[in-house]
Amino acid sequence: MRVAVIGAGVAGLVTALELAKRGISVSVFERGAALGEQACSWAAGGMLAPWCERESAEEAVVTLGRQALDWWPRHYAGTLAQGTLVLAPARDAGELTRFSARTSGYERLDAEGVAALEPDLAGRFRQGLFFAQEAHLDPRRAMAALVEALQAAGVPIHYGVEADEAALDADRIIDCRGLTARDRLGALRGVRGEMLVLRTDEIRLSRPVRLLHPRIPLYVVPRSDGHFMIGATMIESDDRRQVSARSAIELLSAAYALHPALSEAEIVELRADVRPAFPDNLPGIVEDGRTLRVNGLFRHGFLLSPALAGQVADRLLASRELPDAHHRQRRHA
Ligand SMILES: Cc1cc2nc3c(=O)[nH]c(=O)nc-3n(C[C@H](O)[C@H](O)[C@H](O)COP(=O)(O)OP(=O)(O)OC[C@H]3O[C@@H](n4cnc5c(N)ncnc54)[C@H](O)[C@@H]3O)c2cc1C
Repeated sequence: MRVAVIGAGVAGLVTALELAKRGISVSVFERGAALGEQACSWAAGGMLAPWCERESAEEAVVTLGRQALDWWPRHYAGTLAQGTLVLAPARDAGELTRFSARTSGYERLDAEGVAALEPDLAGRFRQGLFFAQEAHLDPRRAMAALVEALQAAGVPIHYGVEADEAALDADRIIDCRGLTARDRLGALRGVRGEMLVLRTDEIRLSRPVRLLHPRIPLYVVPRSDGHFMIGATMIESDDRRQVSARSAIELLSAAYALHPALSEAEIVELRADVRPAFPDNLPGIVEDGRTLRVNGLFRHGFLLSPALAGQVADRLLASRELPDAHHRQRRHA
């Protein structure tokens, strides 16, 4: 079976690797001239946080997301299993109560517990929640590692190719085009996310920190060399223009509330992109003739791609045994 994967965002790369590992002949087609150039995945925070995400997501996100905690360390050595710290300023303590009521898998921390985990936050927060099983990664490095693994497995990646599904010479096609796939998936919508990257040597964090706020919840994901990704807005819009002044001000003031040193940091990058989402905010695999469309990864591209890729591989291998088993249906992952 020859399979063509369209799109080298996180969904396409993870799926291509999973298929190659199971002995399927795969090629990847990406319209961007270089990795990440046109992918929403390039803007991601890289949090693998199924239990925290349960605050606003269905239980399926936890069930499927747990698989990522096993998959990513096996495919990207830079995956860090340091957990997630959730904090709220004293005046927003109610937010912490609300968050804890909607989630599980955490330990409650007092001020000493917070300081023990993140010494640079000592004295700033009286309580917190620690989700010890969660992990994080640098999305750009992780995607580059997947490209290396694909090359080692002999999978060609063709950049700068606007793939036309009808013209592709392949037995099966996996459409991982993200929001562009709206031409075939009418229910897909865009949810704009804005982020910035700061750099400072004045503060160190070992894990993603979420700062709760009734209006501007924020997270800070530490990266190497003093870099911190600050994210992210959630706006019902498919506008991909640069970060608005208002969002930049809000993200920066929330970062300042976490630690004043962040206000002295250098702004290295401002970026906005649009998450592809189905109406229920859950991902799906849609079968359409010889094509499987993998989409709707919303806030969870890195978290849920491994589970979806496993399902795609299972389906392809099963259909190879039962060639007439094609059926049109949308199935929630
Ligand atoms: C600010 C922000 C923070 C986020 N943080 C997290 C996080 O911490 N954890 C997490 O799990 N998720 C996070 N996400 C969500 C995650 O980024 C998305 O779910 C994910 O990027 C979707 O991946 P994708 O592969 O479906 O789409 P994309 O990454 O957009 O990839 C689609 C690719 O298809 C290519 N393409 C389109 N049409 C064609 C064509 N005809 N031919 C060839 N190529 C084509 C595009 O160029 C693109 O490279 C975040 C998102 C944002 C915006």
